[in-house]
Amino acid sequence: MKTYRKELWFHVPTRRAFLNITEHVRDCIAESGIKDGLCLVNAMHIAASVFINDDESGLHQDYEKWLEKIAPHEPVSQYRHNVGEDNADAHMKRQIMGREVVVAITDGDLDFGTWERIFYGEFDGNRRKRVLVKIIGE
Ligand code: ZN
Repeated sequence: MKTYRKELWFHVPTRRAFLNITEHVRDCIAESGIKDGLCLVNAMHIAASVFINDDESGLHQDYEKWLEKIAPHEPVSQYRHNVGEDNADAHMKRQIMGREVVVAITDGDLDFGTWERIFYGEFDGNRRKRVLVKIIGE
């Protein structure tokens, strides 16, 4: 069995954003040489997510609105976590959108449903953050 590990770095210039990172993950699979196995992709930060869904801008705006309804950023004073920081909402948004995804690899590619794509969800941006890609298989 082969194993492969890589850290992908992202710097989102805004507080929140969703990035389609599918092609970055595909590049990792190609680099690994693994044709059949499993691919884990996880955010390495507690205010960012990795999730799978549709690459459709309306949906992403809907997510933004929905997450702001559940865990609004303002007023920052409403959260007990926000003593010396202002990102309590980002921790909660990350909890809802998830930490990681696992995708099967078949014939050297992501074994996806038709519209599935991998996204990095940033909830407290303006700095460099990492995503881990770990692939096992043969
Ligand atoms: Zn925090």
